[in-house]
Amino acid sequence: MEHLEGAKQYPDRQIYCNCCGRVINVNGKHQEDFLQVKKVWSYFSSKDLTGQIFNMCEACYDKMVSSFKIPVEEFPIDDIPAYSDEDIDRLNAAYAAELCK
Ligand SMILES: [Zn+2]
Repeated sequence: MEHLEGAKQYPDRQIYCNCCGRVINVNGKHQEDFLQVKKVWSYFSSKDLTGQIFNMCEACYDKMVSSFKIPVEEFPIDDIPAYSDEDIDRLNAAYAAELCK
């Protein structure tokens, strides 16, 4: 993934949740999934031609969408995103740890 993480470019290459400030991913490696929003504002906005980007952890995302007047629409996903072997190993370890609780 390109180093687009957060409102600032952090030299430690960690990805932060812009909402709560918690580290989401270290060195760009998947530790948990998160929302990344990238928006280029165009004319007819107060931010004409300004690009903005932010990240949000799942807990902050859940808090944000729970405040929506109209619920988020869900749809089925057939394909799982491509993960590296290292990511799969980390996900399997996390899943196994969760099963042992
Ligand atoms: Zn957060």
